[in-house]
Amino acid sequence: MSSAPTSTSPASNFIRTIIDNDLASGKHRAIQTRFPPEPNGYLHVGHAKSICLNFGLAADYHGLCNLRFDDTNPEKESQEYALAIQEDVRWLGFEWSGEVRWASDYFDALYAFAVELIQKGLAYVDDLSPEKMREYRGTLTQAGKNSPSRERTVAANLDLFARMKGGEFADGAMVLRAKIDMSSSNMNLRDPAIYRIRRAHHIRTGDKWCIYPMYDYTHCISDALEGITHSICTLEFEDHRPLYDWVLDNITIPCHPRQYEFSRLELHYTITSKRKLLQLVNEQKVTGWDDPRMPTISGMRRRGYTAAGIREFAKRVGVAKSENSVDMAIMEGAIREDLELRAPRVMAIINPLKVTITNFDGALTREADFHPNLPELGKREVAFASELFIEADDFAEVPPAGWKRLTLGGEIRLRHSYVMRCDEAVKDADGKIIELKCSIDHATLGKNPEGRKVKGVIHFLSCAHALPAEIRLYDRLFTVAQPDADKDGDFCKYLNADSLQVVQGWVEAAVKDAAPETHYQFERLGYFVTDRRDHQAGGKLVFNRTVTLKDSWTKEQA
Ligand code: ATP
Ligand code: MG
Repeated sequence: MSSAPTSTSPASNFIRTIIDNDLASGKHRAIQTRFPPEPNGYLHVGHAKSICLNFGLAADYHGLCNLRFDDTNPEKESQEYALAIQEDVRWLGFEWSGEVRWASDYFDALYAFAVELIQKGLAYVDDLSPEKMREYRGTLTQAGKNSPSRERTVAANLDLFARMKGGEFADGAMVLRAKIDMSSSNMNLRDPAIYRIRRAHHIRTGDKWCIYPMYDYTHCISDALEGITHSICTLEFEDHRPLYDWVLDNITIPCHPRQYEFSRLELHYTITSKRKLLQLVNEQKVTGWDDPRMPTISGMRRRGYTAAGIREFAKRVGVAKSENSVDMAIMEGAIREDLELRAPRVMAIINPLKVTITNFDGALTREADFHPNLPELGKREVAFASELFIEADDFAEVPPAGWKRLTLGGEIRLRHSYVMRCDEAVKDADGKIIELKCSIDHATLGKNPEGRKVKGVIHFLSCAHALPAEIRLYDRLFTVAQPDADKDGDFCKYLNADSLQVVQGWVEAAVKDAAPETHYQFERLGYFVTDRRDHQAGGKLVFNRTVTLKDSWTKEQA
């Protein structure tokens, strides 16, 4: 997918209203957005929302969207993450404008602007100890007080800042602070640090710098240097907006982007914190960032979620300032609807029960469509023979009321095949049913039986034709809807011990040559995808369950 799909951002929201007004008033002739991830982890479903919003708005308004790495914390950042992020954005169906941007591209410019602030008496070097600095900062209810360093002369500050850059001082020995207002009711304006000393190897600038600019200072200037018109971020930055504006108002830069905030997406039964996702990876609670149970973009992809389905999800959850805690059913509904329109349907057996047909010999095959409404998906041959597998759940010796599947003496239709009656259930010494003896009505291949109605339809496979497959059944990763509601508690205690079940199942021969990442509907069981990494490795077929056919979330919660 190369071109940005249109209409991926939500139909109407407060940001679109702002953009409409800005275009109508002539404030902007075109819009320019950006998606600014820090390369310190893999992207998750919350980022997907932000990507769909930023790239989607640009596409809808025929504007542009940059991909800019906010790489100002060298210790936590890596090239692996940066590459994975680019792959994820592209996979979601978006293309950024021009080259990938990096905040580190602007390190020289950022340094020069800091010098400008010092020259204007608007920044100073402070060598208060971190404890003192905290104490001087005050609290929400108590004004801060000025550091003695606030009175340093411009010349002394310029000298100290140059020597900070030159590597004369130890890490943490001093910081450069913006000189704003120690008594501001907004703590972010109490002379925030804008540069710190940190000897860390940077993924792009290596060891060139031993001072790094802080996020708040870097972000607004990067936006302005790129001509961003609407800088969209999550609500926790609302209180940082005055600082965003203060920096741009006090340096010589021709562009002043406006920041707008929307609420973070939270998805039930999962977490959207990079730090916590990293913990799951490091503590091997999952197999990696792309474990199909992870809410990462790469995890969702490996699980079989489609890019179009995720984009549709982002559209449905919308953009607002109110809390955006969303039920998994919304995601799964969007994925299911997308797969419904593209996935070929085949039969597979997860929990086999053997059936012997006592009145049939040999084998036959019958042509069947891959999809009832999509003839373009073609057809395949479905095999029938005297030994079959059916799903163990589809037989009940003592059927509950309303049972439409197989029972002793009862009839069902085998999908794409005959009507079959169960004559005998064979049990082992423990009384467990190990085989069914059944007979077919030879007159019912593709025809209704004479004189009676057979309502139930079940799927099956011919034992001799079926292929063995590893089938990975995923369930929610956590046992509670908001595992990190208690910010200080250990969210790992809510991990669902049964979130992965691996079974040896059987699939139709028609899937034999499927490439990794091929989607199927296994009739009556759900949507499955061939695993991106393990399918066909060593000749083994490996399927991941993407989602069941019916919503099991809302029901369980009701
Ligand atoms: P951190 O900065 O703590 O590493 P982050 O989740 O903010 O974590 P970034 O890489 O800074 O990660 O995020 C990039 C962009 O994605 C930001 O604009 C951020 O606001 C947005 N974003 C992050 N998490 C969510 C979320 N849950 N919902 C919506 N947007 C999000
Ligand atoms: Mg961030």
